[in-house]
Amino acid sequence: MTDSIANTEQSTGPQLRSGFSGADIPAYEDYAHCVHCGLCLNNCPTYKLWGLEADSPRGRIRQIVLVDQGRLPLGDSFVKHIDQCLDCRACESACPSGVEYGKLVEAARAQIEQNYKRPFFSRLARNFVFRGLLPYPGRIAVLARILYIYQCSGLQALVRATGILRLVGMAGKEKLLPPIDREFFFSKLGKTYPAVGPRRARVALFAGCVAQVSFSALHEATIRVLTANGCEVVVPAGQTCCGALPSHAGVRDVARSLARVNLEVFLGGEFDAVITNAAGCGSTLKEYEHLFAAGTPEHEKAHAFRKKMRDATEFLADLGISSQLSGKPMRVTYQDSCHLLHGQKIREAPRKLLRAIPGLELVEMAMADYCCGSAGSYNVTETETSLALLAEKMKHARATNAPVIVTANPGCLLQMRAGAQIHGTGQEVFHVMELLDHALVKQA
Ligand code: SF4
Ligand code: SF4
Repeated sequence: MTDSIANTEQSTGPQLRSGFSGADIPAYEDYAHCVHCGLCLNNCPTYKLWGLEADSPRGRIRQIVLVDQGRLPLGDSFVKHIDQCLDCRACESACPSGVEYGKLVEAARAQIEQNYKRPFFSRLARNFVFRGLLPYPGRIAVLARILYIYQCSGLQALVRATGILRLVGMAGKEKLLPPIDREFFFSKLGKTYPAVGPRRARVALFAGCVAQVSFSALHEATIRVLTANGCEVVVPAGQTCCGALPSHAGVRDVARSLARVNLEVFLGGEFDAVITNAAGCGSTLKEYEHLFAAGTPEHEKAHAFRKKMRDATEFLADLGISSQLSGKPMRVTYQDSCHLLHGQKIREAPRKLLRAIPGLELVEMAMADYCCGSAGSYNVTETETSLALLAEKMKHARATNAPVIVTANPGCLLQMRAGAQIHGTGQEVFHVMELLDHALVKQA
């Protein structure tokens, strides 16, 4: 351990007072694994964009150590570099020392949330989204209704045509708004969908928060695919937002209270697995243990829950496709979702399912494992950087000459759809579950 970042700092003088305080302090045993070898640097999108050590994984870990040792203030500079991280965790996949960078950056953000005063409008927006909106499905539904009217009444087209969005610097953000469904998935909570044919498994579907107002069709496609493959699908009532967005933003008290609700709901039923079609949610749901101290009852529940939690592609690839599939010749390319690949280490399952579709030709795009810039709410908070990453992504997607891009995460799907529109690639973008649903041979 003599060459670790932590010990290098400690060897330069006596341990100083920590700049961190309160709950969720980045743990020494987490950052001490970093041997500052730099092997993660070229996998980091922000380092590749700007070439700055302070915006690399190694540089960010060093800043966390320095704040912990009282050598760097928890101030504007620290906050800027931690905010600019996508939390894509590509650095974790590259790290030979097993540094769990996601844990570190989320703890650093929790410290920022508790000990740093953001500008007034930033605090207002964060409080509204993380504390006033995401934990309340009813409020999400009301806001979604308003957005639906904006999108479908012609008002959106009018506002775009006036150029006012450009004037107020909102043109990029507005393009990334999810299209709102006519009917929300909330009405399906509490329902059970029987397996087609002999039952092979009984599963619970995790429905999420924003996904219930903008990805109802994806949820329905997922249910059709699962039931066609012999799964009885239950959509438990009482479930709530997974807490990924608050957790990534450092708002851990909210993430914890959401986790408690989901643990009660999903552990309260007899399920072979709990399924999500959202890789970003799945990675947080599988890591609820990080939110609770070891030895607490909640930590034990989170541990039991982790064993049940599966991404839809992971579960179905393991179970094996039993439904009949048909298809026409189609060339597609697959974009890895960071939280599926780097967060959950799932690379092969979605590809295996795609290859099972007759006629489908899977063409790998260069840098498919590189973040598209969606990264939870990053495309809203750091829009310029997000669009720069998206431009790079669309260059690689276009080069495949595949008319269809496939992903396994709703956030990436929206981002890639916006990318296809902004860069005029003409490509359609689907979720793996949607392509499987299209390929199902419907029984009479
Ligand atoms: S690869 Fe791992 S050990 Fe090496 S600098 Fe990056 S985080 Fe530290
Ligand atoms: S999480 Fe992504 S953006 Fe952040 S340091 Fe790691 S590779 Fe870079």
